[in-house]
Amino acid sequence: MKADSYRFDGSGKCRLDKLATNSKADGIDKEKILAMTAENLQKMAALQDAFYADGREGLIFVLQAMDAAGKDSTIKHVMSGLNPQGVQVTSFKQPNSEELKHDFLWRVNKALPARGSIAIFNRSYYEDVLVVQLHDLQKGYQMAPRVLEQDKDEFFAQRYRQIRHYEQYLYENSYRVVKIFLHVSKNEQKKRFLERIDNPAKNWKFSASDLAERAYFDDYQRLYEQVIDATAAKEAPWYALPADQKWYTRYLVSEIVVDALEHTSHNYPVLSTEAQQNLQDCRTRLEAENS
Ligand code: AMP
Ligand code: MG
Repeated sequence: MKADSYRFDGSGKCRLDKLATNSKADGIDKEKILAMTAENLQKMAALQDAFYADGREGLIFVLQAMDAAGKDSTIKHVMSGLNPQGVQVTSFKQPNSEELKHDFLWRVNKALPARGSIAIFNRSYYEDVLVVQLHDLQKGYQMAPRVLEQDKDEFFAQRYRQIRHYEQYLYENSYRVVKIFLHVSKNEQKKRFLERIDNPAKNWKFSASDLAERAYFDDYQRLYEQVIDATAAKEAPWYALPADQKWYTRYLVSEIVVDALEHTSHNYPVLSTEAQQNLQDCRTRLEAENS
């Protein structure tokens, strides 16, 4: 699949400046892509139905990106192909005071899906090694000196390890974690910010702090590379997808979701002979009604 060219599973290094933020390099036709996206949404619905009935594996999609890269709209459009009964979306904001009193995975555990369900994380525990690391937020945490007084690199190296182990733990508990970074260019982000300022229906999406973060755009790119390299694994891959054209991003995400569902248990439970006999007995009783 096309998305494979943007996949990182730990075997190669992620260099964002070498990766496209649009579809030009892939030489594709927009009309075809739109049709293929629609097809994928249908496949997704059919697969999810069986995945839900099967109930032996859980799926977690992590979406990370700079502001205005399209996380919300990707969720809105791509996930429209899924039955809401088996999906839950969690948006991870700045931790509140109760969350800050706990370890950083505490709030994540509460958002884990039951097996047979899909969780979509709009931002995630990756913020704890991204925004936290960039702004040294850990310095303000209530933690023991032995934790906070160590070298900063050591502190975050530990977090990378904890994340790898957490995702491995989930895999060994019959979950799959798929991580998606929406790779938007600085230029496109500017366009989208201007659109949010100019369009009253989008004003609410913009805050002055988005501009403050934009000033760190290049630092974030380097940090994302580091985080992707440190946490990409065969069983918990990263995808760094071009995000300057929403129609293309949606297509690639739809491919990834279909692929994840295809690789996950999705067999309708087969009844035992006894249970099947039971069904037939029920049929006979139903047919005997009013006759
Ligand atoms: P938004 O996704 O635009 O609604 O913004 C949510 C904000 O919460 C972003 O600026 C994130 O960087 C921030 N955020 C999410 N998780 C954390 C975290 N663990 N620590 C600090 N800030 C966070
Ligand atoms: Mg925002």
